[in-house]
Amino acid sequence: MKFNEEIARRRTFGIISHPDAGKTTLTEKLLLFGGAIQEAGAVKSNKIKKGATSDFMEIERQRGISVATSVLAFEYDGIKINILDTPGHKDFAEDTFRTLTAVDSVIVVIDVAKGVEEQTEKLVEVCRMRNIPIIVFINKLDREGKDAFELLDEIEQKLSLKVTPLSFPIGMGYDFKGIYNIWEKNVNLFSGDSRKNIEETIENEDLQSSELEELIGTDAAETLREEIELVEGIYPSFDKQAYNDANLQPVFFGSALNNFGVRELLDCFVSIAPTPRAKQSDTRLVKPDEKEFTGFVFKIHANMDPKHRDRLAFIKIVSGKFERNVPYLHVRQGKKLRFSSPNAFFAEKKEIVDTSYPGDIVGLHDTGNFKIGDTLTEGEELNYKGIPSFSPEHFRYINNADPMKSKQLYKGIDQLMDEGVAQLFTLELNGRKVIGTVGALQFEVIQYRLEHEYNAKCSYENLNVYKACWVEAKDPKSEEFKDFKRVKSKFLAKDKRNQLVFLSDSQFSLQMTQQKYPNVKFHFVSEFD
Ligand code: GDP
Repeated sequence: MKFNEEIARRRTFGIISHPDAGKTTLTEKLLLFGGAIQEAGAVKSNKIKKGATSDFMEIERQRGISVATSVLAFEYDGIKINILDTPGHKDFAEDTFRTLTAVDSVIVVIDVAKGVEEQTEKLVEVCRMRNIPIIVFINKLDREGKDAFELLDEIEQKLSLKVTPLSFPIGMGYDFKGIYNIWEKNVNLFSGDSRKNIEETIENEDLQSSELEELIGTDAAETLREEIELVEGIYPSFDKQAYNDANLQPVFFGSALNNFGVRELLDCFVSIAPTPRAKQSDTRLVKPDEKEFTGFVFKIHANMDPKHRDRLAFIKIVSGKFERNVPYLHVRQGKKLRFSSPNAFFAEKKEIVDTSYPGDIVGLHDTGNFKIGDTLTEGEELNYKGIPSFSPEHFRYINNADPMKSKQLYKGIDQLMDEGVAQLFTLELNGRKVIGTVGALQFEVIQYRLEHEYNAKCSYENLNVYKACWVEAKDPKSEEFKDFKRVKSKFLAKDKRNQLVFLSDSQFSLQMTQQKYPNVKFHFVSEFD
């Protein structure tokens, strides 16, 4: 197959949702359609149960699963689909944010009864910032839920999206009869008895025909006609360009558990979802069909096998072909590296591959060369942008609990930070180390991993910090900035990239500081132009 055809048949996306909306179930049904797995239950839920915070085995299990399901690839209708896993647990949100830098589109799963939830809002906001095309799947239609129009309103308002339904439910919950597929113009009937059977699809080009009454009854047919008329009146008709530009979001309804509405979603997805997109680097926009290989690291995972302490760096290929055993430039380190066993991912297994294409993810064995955000090229000096760190929510001093093992401790902390488990800040005043995390769970993960992987012990000490802000001075030589650095010296630290960070202890003091120093900018994200 030609290079351009390989690119054109790739769809790389992520499924995002608030926990429990049905992301795992939907992933599994998609894989079933692709023939990638044979039975339900094969995809492990990648979540931590409530209350398991102190259960270290649970953390290990979680890590093991998230390696296994990091990328799930399958073929459907000649299309190569790469699903990138995004942890739903909010303590791992940063991992999800980074994964979103490697997707070309997303599917958002929403629970019909719960509507738009907190995690959905946060994740969709990140997608909006990056102009990622979104398809919405409203799940659990077999249960009582919110009215369809009410939900569409909620999605538009809370998620600031512009929606257009491509399917519409006929009844809901106990009365759920099926779906009218606006995209394909047909009726999908839900078999009410067992509620487990695969649907029946009936072509219905003309909603006015009396066939509809025979299928779903007089009342339901009347209601459906009215509702579809309303849909056509209220919502813009689907436009592929608008969807691709992230200006319009198609919505599907269904029930993942019952495998209802999933094939329709998948068929529409493969026909409209974007092929691998161009990506901005610090020097130029790189297009996927360029001859020379470029890619970037968006995730690093420690190896689960204790005999092999190496790590797996996940690279998204942006342009060109990635080939086994060819030396590539590690731009940050300025040295060439070759990889003898790059892994490609298929449903649940990984295999060594010779050639991968734009849109694909390869896993490279790494002995400590990579950091999240690193770029690989055939020789060009460019760096991909857009993997910022967000201000952590929790902060603690980290201390060495075993003075004989300080070398191990620092190496461990260094590598865990490269993986993006948490962020390290070094106080300017006294050199003390502060760990910042998105969730409290990470502190335990770090402690556990330092002990088991690096043979080092740490302890924590509380520290009152509200937010970490990356500081930018309009004029670093100004008296104002000097004054700021002097007065606030107790609260200043450097991050891993040596950028100056202000650790403010309360919202109030942050506001006061902003007012007092109008020419100093405080950013909640580490990357700014
Ligand atoms: P995740 O946390 O988003 O990955 O959610 P899961 O896929 O693990 O689903 C959470 C729960 O919702 C599980 O108990 C599923 O069986 C259930 N579930 C998923 N889809 C449906 C559906 O269409 N209908 C019903 N009634 N339950 C569902």
